[in-house]
Amino acid sequence: MSSQMNFRELVRKYDIPAPRYTSYPTVPCWEQAPDAAEWTASVRSTLQQHGERGWSLYLHIPFCESLCTFCGCNTSITRKHEVESPYVEQVLAEWKSYLQKVPELRERPLQVLHLGGGTPTFLSPENLRRLIAPILESTRRTSQFEGSVEVDPRRTTRAHLEMLRELGFNRVSLGVQDLDPEVQRVIHRNQTLEQTIAITEAARELGYVSVNWDLIYGLPLQTLEKIERTVEATLQAKPDRIALYSFALVPWIKPQQRIFKDSDLPVGEEKRALYERARGLLLEKGGYREIGMDHFALPTDGLSRAMDRGDLHRNFMGYVDHRTDLLLGLGVSAISETPRHFHQNEKVLNLYSQRVLSGEIPTHRGHSLTDEDREAREQILTLMTRWEVEIPSREQREGLAQMLSEMITDGLVRLEGQKLSVLPEGKPFLRNACMALDRRLRARQPQARVFSQSL
Ligand code: SF4
Repeated sequence: MSSQMNFRELVRKYDIPAPRYTSYPTVPCWEQAPDAAEWTASVRSTLQQHGERGWSLYLHIPFCESLCTFCGCNTSITRKHEVESPYVEQVLAEWKSYLQKVPELRERPLQVLHLGGGTPTFLSPENLRRLIAPILESTRRTSQFEGSVEVDPRRTTRAHLEMLRELGFNRVSLGVQDLDPEVQRVIHRNQTLEQTIAITEAARELGYVSVNWDLIYGLPLQTLEKIERTVEATLQAKPDRIALYSFALVPWIKPQQRIFKDSDLPVGEEKRALYERARGLLLEKGGYREIGMDHFALPTDGLSRAMDRGDLHRNFMGYVDHRTDLLLGLGVSAISETPRHFHQNEKVLNLYSQRVLSGEIPTHRGHSLTDEDREAREQILTLMTRWEVEIPSREQREGLAQMLSEMITDGLVRLEGQKLSVLPEGKPFLRNACMALDRRLRARQPQARVFSQSL
């Protein structure tokens, strides 16, 4: 590092509020939502240009039986399972509206179906079937179709996994977070290792080809010893992929996080050390490969192979191994994207329900991308997935040289010829480097408290 800054100083300097870049423009910078006609025309034209390339469908199930206090998802907390049937009817009504307005959805093959939440397995196996089977019956699938589901091992049974496997699901992602009982108590998520192992083994026995564990670093009361024990147990189970997410502390958006004491929260250098300890174990002891900024995969897993092929992608679900031009999201608060638009559904369950049952497309907000947005979107996506990006415009390179001058001096990024690269020492600061490519953030400067810290 030419500036001779040590890691502690770098963290102090660069640990600032920064987007996670699961989309560009980021949601707080969205404007110009498409109206229903414009949005469905965007979906149609994307599919018309698609040929036999597949598209992606996301189904959002918002319900959870209890609230995990760290959680940043759009959830609806209830123990009343009477909500299941009406919700299935609502999502199917939304799907029916799309089928009427976008007949191409029947003709073009589906590549990816992802079931997320909330807790998808809050629904009984029978209600999940009532939701998914009619959707799959009304469209075609590619020969390499992937069905993936996020599961909470506390609320998932073998019967759920059997039913989803029958419908063609082949990937499962388990919420684990941290296995330490003290950490679990403070995040309000008591989950035994036995519960997690039981679902992992059941998925394998049933023929799911990829099992993922989601872990989080930076949780309250987490220490190096605790994360080490969690990772050691993870290595025993050997999931095919692991997401090691940074805990996003956003109490101004998620008030339940206010119960965490500042003194219990690892921040800055201490927080990053948790990631580095886990990373070291996964790479050196577990034989995993590091994918992007927070994922790990065995060399045999699809995410690893996508990295080798150079077609790793990032969207609202994080790093994924298939890029499709259309991601259609159904369900309350679900987000969709096409090359020209972003679209988010109504976030309030009652309003979502009223709107879909009356045949409306339940738009809450969205964004129509300009040509400049599309260029920046590709650049940020490339940097997030490949650690380097070509910048053909001399004017933009000159601007970047100025904006990134300190990161260049500190040995974190390099701008050489037409190429902007994140150096190995700069990997923890990838989100900071992306901010230099984010024209909307600079133009609009949303309040800093919109985003969590970059590390
Ligand atoms: S972490 Fe998962 S189970 Fe917990 S509240 Fe959030 S969505 Fe629900």
